Amino acid sequence: MEYRVLGKTGLSVSRLGFGGIPIQKIDAEGTKTLLHHLADMGVNYIDTARGYTVSEEYIGYAIEDCRDRFILATKSMARDYAGMARDIEISLKNLRTDYIDLYQIHNPSLKQLEEVLAPGGALEALTEAKAAGKIGHIGLTAHSTEVFARALELGFVETVMFPYNPVETQGEELIARCAERNVGFIAMKPLAGGAIEDATLALRFCGANPGVTVVIPGMAEIREAEENARALSDTTPLTEAEQGKVNALVTDLGTHFCRRCNYCAPCTVGINISGVFLFEGYLTRYGLEDWARARYEAAVPVPASACVECGVCESRCPYHLPIRQMLKAAAQKFGK
Ligand code: SF4
Ligand code: SF4
Repeated sequence: MEYRVLGKTGLSVSRLGFGGIPIQKIDAEGTKTLLHHLADMGVNYIDTARGYTVSEEYIGYAIEDCRDRFILATKSMARDYAGMARDIEISLKNLRTDYIDLYQIHNPSLKQLEEVLAPGGALEALTEAKAAGKIGHIGLTAHSTEVFARALELGFVETVMFPYNPVETQGEELIARCAERNVGFIAMKPLAGGAIEDATLALRFCGANPGVTVVIPGMAEIREAEENARALSDTTPLTEAEQGKVNALVTDLGTHFCRRCNYCAPCTVGINISGVFLFEGYLTRYGLEDWARARYEAAVPVPASACVECGVCESRCPYHLPIRQMLKAAAQKFGK
């Protein structure tokens, strides 16, 4: 296993990290078996979130007897001081530890990020927890390039997590800037939320980018973990044949895959368009139906079915996606 330094944190992390979303569909005992196997393979980076229902708890149970073999990263969607302070305590309890290596601000919009930074905002709670030795480092996760770019202007941000895979390359320029600023880059959604079936190709693509510090595919099975480790053990540039496959993938998925760039916003009636497609992916590809529906309820207050088909969003989408048609299909799946 190859290890890289995670930006300003100075932590030495394995190139393959563990994405903690899919364990919601197994159990605590299965998570323990999986994580012990991963530790033996040399994987030392675990990513989870307050928002991934039982994920923190399962991980806490799984690594209680081997906490020191892992670098633990989690995140919270709290934007104010009280909410973040409360979430840090819950994470510590769930993860059965007195120290979390990396605590991240989970996917804020630009406006929410300003709330985090304002007096009484979540950053104060993170700074306090860091000074108290409850957390080691502070990072940020994003889905839009605007937030990614803003994060790079903030000196306290030690790591950024952003989607990166053959069909979501919108962050490439910013990934290169991370290296220049010594900010660790964590590649999430390397399989495009399950849309890419060839995991080896997708991970080879991520691993071949020297700006990527760690890649965190979601894993719930030992077989997947071993396949992923094999793919990431080769960090040489893609061969011509591999590049050809990547190009074919982009052509194939390109006509109907939302890259969450948000250029289509704002919607005339206030639909969170990229949010609809993100949660639709969780619904159809992750096998986590209840969780996907709950996230849709919470983050998409104006449902996909409210689309009045004005077409304004489609004129802004750089990938020319048939958004109206795609929203209709999503509304059918979510029932609203
Ligand atoms: S077509 Fe629908 S989703 Fe697009 S801007 Fe109009 S109302 Fe919003
Ligand atoms: S629908 Fe198009 S413009 Fe909107 S977020 Fe997706 S890819 Fe970007």
